[in-house]
Amino acid sequence: MRERWGRRVRVRLAFVAPTGAASERAADVVPALPEVLPELRRALALAQSARLRLLLVGYCGIPPCLLAPFEHVSESAYRGRVDVPDDHVKFEACRACVYDAGCPGLWRGYVDAHGDPGVRAVTRAPARVRAVSWLTRRVI
Ligand code: SF4
Repeated sequence: MRERWGRRVRVRLAFVAPTGAASERAADVVPALPEVLPELRRALALAQSARLRLLLVGYCGIPPCLLAPFEHVSESAYRGRVDVPDDHVKFEACRACVYDAGCPGLWRGYVDAHGDPGVRAVTRAPARVRAVSWLTRRVI
């Protein structure tokens, strides 16, 4: 990415969605987030060092609370109020989270298959999220 396009393109990432045929076998075909997140954080650190312009989409992404210290790559960290779709779930912790309004939570199919991956309220957005939110809101 860096060699071919550098910062000329914006990369948007999604997580595996338990929809369609995958919804019936979500436990088999959708990886558990606690297994994925350490490797994902390493990849995000690499992307950051390469200065890639990268964003995890809100609806099909991963909630910001699970991405720390990379909350700033989640679209949900910058959105205004969104409705929680029927195929997503929120948690008790979400009520105290600074991202509650803009975060759709997790896929219901994922939670049915794997349970709560460690959702926890974020009580203060990191400085980086606060600093760039006005700019990101213009482009997502
Ligand atoms: S605690 Fe809830 S609202 Fe906050 S980021 Fe996590 S899933 Fe989203």
